[in-house]
Amino acid sequence: MSDAFNESSLFHPRNFQTGTQSETLSPRHGIKFKKILDSFSSLCKKDTLSGRSTVKEHIMEIKILQDILESNKNAAAEVKELLKKKRIYMIDMMSSPGSGKTTLNDRLIGALKNNYRIAVIEGDIKTTKDAERLAKHNIPIFQIETDRFGGDCHLESSWVKKCLEQFDLDNLDLVIVENIGNLVCPAEFELGDDERIVVLSVTEGEDKPAKYPLMFNTSDTMVLNKIDLLPHLDYNMDELMDNIKQANPKIRIFRLSAKTGEGMDALVKHISDNIDRKRRSV
Ligand code: MG
Ligand code: ZN
Repeated sequence: MSDAFNESSLFHPRNFQTGTQSETLSPRHGIKFKKILDSFSSLCKKDTLSGRSTVKEHIMEIKILQDILESNKNAAAEVKELLKKKRIYMIDMMSSPGSGKTTLNDRLIGALKNNYRIAVIEGDIKTTKDAERLAKHNIPIFQIETDRFGGDCHLESSWVKKCLEQFDLDNLDLVIVENIGNLVCPAEFELGDDERIVVLSVTEGEDKPAKYPLMFNTSDTMVLNKIDLLPHLDYNMDELMDNIKQANPKIRIFRLSAKTGEGMDALVKHISDNIDRKRRSV
């Protein structure tokens, strides 16, 4: 671990005052509980007929899910209010593992840090590797390593809030949250951000927006990354665009290569404009 980045920059419930039980009881897969919720009535019927006493357990699971989603929604609203008060722009960056979020953030921070004060919240199940890669920029970075408290595959707004409280919010313009690599449940947990960016690399194929519609439907912006690899791939751009249009006709699209820098200028300008707008807001 580098000097710029040490144990105190890691998120762990022990590093903070204990929250409510629902904050620490989050399921590994929120989606699993949602499915239980959806099929609850049929489960109820079946269990009554068979005489098994699992209904009570299901009710408890549903109660936990409702508590988590409700608590997440409330904390997201608090984050939003805090960011509004401090006029800080926050991005929730999501993608599947290996789509190039950290390389993109490296580029973005490099392009923006002379004009804006930036902080990063890194979410990973395990390792601090991504945070260490960004440490060279000498900006505040907080790593949430969920393996230390249950291995959750998404970030929740209450954790983001606790991380934000560690930053000097009067001296920040932009917070980038690099969510955990996963196209499923990060879509369900709003963080109170200003913009959701989903990063999709061309190596992942054209079908992801069709397979994970909620992720693309709840995102404001899509970054199509690794376009430098297009000449080596049999990629059907029309098919991708059709799939995107189905999932979210309003999504903003940037095609770029975070590795070569091609196409980065448009995204940097878009984010700069949004930071400026937030700073001018009342
Ligand atoms: Mg990461
Ligand atoms: Zn999850």
